[in-house]
Parts: sequence; C-alpha cells; structure tokens
Amino acid sequence: MSLKSSTIAIHNGLNEDTQFGCVVPPIYLSSTYNFTGFNEPRVHDYSRRGNPGRDIVQRTIAQLEGGSGAVMTNSGMSALHLLCTVFLQPGDLLVAPHDCYGGSYRLFNSQHQRGAYQVQFVNQNNQDELLAALKKKPKLVLIETPSNPLLTIYDIEHIARLAHEVGAFVVVDNTFLSPVLQQPIALGADFVVHSCTKYLNGHSDIIAGAVIAKEEKWALELAWWANNIGVTGGAFDSYLLLRGIRTLSPRIKQQQSNALEIVNYLTAQPWVKKLYYPALQDHAGHEIAVKQQKGFGAMLSFEFNGDEQQLCRFLSALTLFTLAESLGGVETLISHTATMTHAGMSAEARAAAGITDSLLRISVGIEDSEDLIADLENAFRVAAQR
Ligand SMILES: *Cc1c(COP(=O)(O)O)cnc(C)c1O
Repeated sequence: MSLKSSTIAIHNGLNEDTQFGCVVPPIYLSSTYNFTGFNEPRVHDYSRRGNPGRDIVQRTIAQLEGGSGAVMTNSGMSALHLLCTVFLQPGDLLVAPHDCYGGSYRLFNSQHQRGAYQVQFVNQNNQDELLAALKKKPKLVLIETPSNPLLTIYDIEHIARLAHEVGAFVVVDNTFLSPVLQQPIALGADFVVHSCTKYLNGHSDIIAGAVIAKEEKWALELAWWANNIGVTGGAFDSYLLLRGIRTLSPRIKQQQSNALEIVNYLTAQPWVKKLYYPALQDHAGHEIAVKQQKGFGAMLSFEFNGDEQQLCRFLSALTLFTLAESLGGVETLISHTATMTHAGMSAEARAAAGITDSLLRISVGIEDSEDLIADLENAFRVAAQR
C-alpha cells in the first residue's frame, strides 16, 4: 500500500513499543546498549551509530522524499558536509548555485581554499555558464530551489539530466519547500538534503539536518560515514523532529495559504516596490514552479519603497512579525537581507545577485492571516509618519 505524505508523517513509529504498549515512541536516551551475550550484539550497540528514535525519524524522512534511506544529522550544514566528505576527494569538482544558502557558500569556499575539493559557483539558469561548468566533469551538482532570498526557481529535471550526462551526482537542497511541496528524487535527483531546523521541525526549537539517498547502497555509505565522523542527530532532537514532522502537511498548507493572502495584500501596497513570490506570473521561473512544485510555498520577499528611517519605523512597528533569521516555523519571521542573512556577502556581491538594501524576507507562520495583514497595515502607516 503506498501511503500519502500526511499519513506517512503520522503513522511511522506508532505502537512499536512492546513493553508498555506506548502509542507514541518513547525517547531512548541510553548512549549504549548491552550485548545479549558474548559476541551477540543487538540491533543497536552505541547511540552515535544508531538510536531507536532516530531510526524512526530517518525512515519517515526517507519515505516522505521517496528515497530508500536517510541519515539525520546534527545540523543542515553537517548534512551537506557529510555528502561532500563521502563524494568529493581533493581535485574533485562541486558545482554549486551562485545564490546558494550563505552557510553553504562559506563551507564550500573554505573547503576549496584548503584543498579538500574544488568548487565552482554557477548561475544554473544561464545555460552557457552551466554547460561550461559541466564540461569540467564535476562529481557533484548541487541545486537549491527556490533560492534565497529572491525565490528564483531552477529546473531540477533539466539540470539533473545535463548533470547525469557527464556522470555527476545530483543533490537538491529542499529546505525551502519540504517534501510536501517538492519531491526532487522523482524529478531526477540522487540525493536530497534538508535543514530540518526549518519546515520539517517547524517550531524553531532545534538545529538538525538530513541527507536522503535515492539508492540504498548510498544510504548505507552515508550512514557509515555519519557514524565515522560523528555527525548523527541526538535523541532529544530526533524526538522533537519526529513530533514536528507529524504536523508538517497541515502546517505548510496553512503557511502557504497565509502567504498567498499576504502577497495579495502586498501587490496593491504602494510601500512595496517589487514583490518576489513564485505564484506571481512575472516571477523568474513561475512556469517551472508550476511544473515541478505542488505549491508555491510560504517564503516571500519584497523591496520596501522608502528610505532607511521609514524602513526602521516599519520594522519597529510590527508586533506579529519577529525580526529574526531562519524560517519555516509556526511563527512569522521577517528579516532584512543586507544586514542579517546576507551580511557576510560584500555590497558588490549582493548588488550582482540583485539584492538591494531595501529587501525584506518573510517566513509566513500559521497565525490568522487577517491579524498578520492588519499588523502590516499598521506598520506601513507608522512608516509614513514624519
Ligand atoms: C538553514 C539552511 C541550511 C543550513 O542548515 P542549519 O540547520 O542551519 O545548519 C542549509 N540550506 C538552506 C537552504 C537553509 O535555509
């Protein structure tokens, strides 16, 4: 029986406890497990290698992404680092998006500088640039779509086909949409990575990551290395992550519906110079989003149409939008790209990427959309006061 994602999210791990008949799986805090006798290990021997709670969450994430296995790691960054460790040797090339997550950019760049592997950052929507990079026969091609913060869409199926022609593995960072809204393996990816810190956990109270492999052999290889270098997720985090995943589907649907309401409101708002949301007809890659996504998601950005003082007043007047980095939680967050998420980028690099000093990014939560819009309305009014 093939189950739908909301059922997978709820059903995994229920009623597995034989001692007390617990409906919900308990947290197994033991770092070690006894042997039943001389040279007779159980399924688990040590919690870095395997933990019953982590097993359940890994199985759940793998099923949601349509992969054959997954490894939960202690952050999204360690998930990416694990993949690079397994697949890239000195001299091997990684092709990464020019507008990838800032932390990913820093990781690849610093590893490149110390000779661990080579990286080339490419605008994957520029066919010539992409083909020139693929000619160098990369080992790994990373795709991140929608991109941060401008929500640019990249065609997974198309890029994966070209990458496979030169023998590269294709990895998709699916953090911004979650498997409920996009399933990269069905579109041709070999691996999917997540910052589970974001939508999968959904409550902004853990840091965690995951790598999902299409083929079982690679899932086993990744699990071996995750234990070897010690980046597996902890027992408490496994518990919280599974608990978060239980409600992933209704959460993201509500977040997306709120995002649509907010976008409708902002479209007619004179304080908004330019709005970035994949549902908009004139958005870069709107057509591809319609083809490869099951929804437009709950992240949006806009350019504030005012000076810095007005921007300051606007942000201070908001009461339901928290000025903070990160995304995907039940609470609505707003961030100022130039001074927050992309402060590590030079002003020139930001300008080249199309990021202006007036850009704001919103991660829409599950509050009532009418309250969120009223809060925006009030803050725009305050911004206008001299
Ligand atoms: C946050 C994020 C990461 C890094 O994940 P952490 O859990 O913060 O280590 C990687 N990719 C994307 C797209 C992210 O948003």
